[in-house]
Amino acid sequence: MQKFDVIVIGQGYAGLTAAKLAHGKGLKTASVEAMFAGGFVMNVNELEPTPDPEVQSGSELISNLAMENMDLGIETISSPVTAIKKLDDGWCVIAEEGELAAGQVIVASGASLRKLGVPGEEEFFGRGVSECADCDGPMFGDMETVVVGGGDSAFQEALALTHFAEKVTILMRGQTPRARPDLVQKVTASDKVTVLGKAEVLAIEGSEAGVTGIRASVEGKETTIPCGGVFVFIGTQPNADFLPQEVSRDADGGVVTGENGATGQPGLWVIGAARSGFGGLLSDAAKDAERVVAALG
Ligand code: NDP
Repeated sequence: MQKFDVIVIGQGYAGLTAAKLAHGKGLKTASVEAMFAGGFVMNVNELEPTPDPEVQSGSELISNLAMENMDLGIETISSPVTAIKKLDDGWCVIAEEGELAAGQVIVASGASLRKLGVPGEEEFFGRGVSECADCDGPMFGDMETVVVGGGDSAFQEALALTHFAEKVTILMRGQTPRARPDLVQKVTASDKVTVLGKAEVLAIEGSEAGVTGIRASVEGKETTIPCGGVFVFIGTQPNADFLPQEVSRDADGGVVTGENGATGQPGLWVIGAARSGFGGLLSDAAKDAERVVAALG
């Protein structure tokens, strides 16, 4: 079994930054990712603010950091992690391609977008139901689109969609957006976006060709909004199923940690979107990475 001082699971911004800092501290570091480096930031064409003035897009930010880590000699392993088990002197990371051991494991496995769980959502995924406005927006050039959610993600994606779609309707379950005031202001100023509150999505409807509309109850009245694209941004679900049961989680599945990512299990740390109370910004991911590496023994 290959042995490291530190294994970082996940190659989003938090994980790649933590791996780079751990290596910089002189620790033998491995960086493990299920398939490709990335995370949510990959879907953002214009980072605002960008942590590196030379870099505008999320994909460039991540690929630069991943390349930098490889050039530094950080061992990069592409294999999904299925479990982590306690050893006498650390942890065993069980990946599909084999087992690795380390004294310290930093979990930066991120989160996945939460689903609405309504009829049509799965059926039309990739045929009108999308998770990325910047990537799929051009397919909705002459169409109406609907974004579900009232947070920063929903408002940011709706604004990205205005570059492509004819019209964007935001459906919020509450009356007041949770999104940042500057995003709300931009949405309000856009003549392409309509915001509807007290809206509950009932189903996503479509035909062979893809999505044709979204059925919702808006202020208690059932209605069908015709659209070719549906973007659901109702928060995230932490990717933490593979962690040991003893690690405590909040009601949303986020791992409960100290400020520095400590889980209460010696040598096992969780940072970024997999942990409870994560701020959600790139600067928060960087702070998480700095704090955890500073805390490593
Ligand atoms: P949030 O948790 O902030 O917001 C989720 C939204 O979805 C809320 O409006 C919530 O409604 C709504 N919602 C939740 N469940 C349902 C449901 N079942 N049906 C309908 N609506 C539902 O998630 P985000 O992904 O927007 O943001 C996550 C974090 O990432 C935040 O900290 C955010 O600040 C950060 N972020 C920052 C960005 C930036 O600064 N550029 C960009 C994107 C995200 P309700 O309000 O009624 O609970």
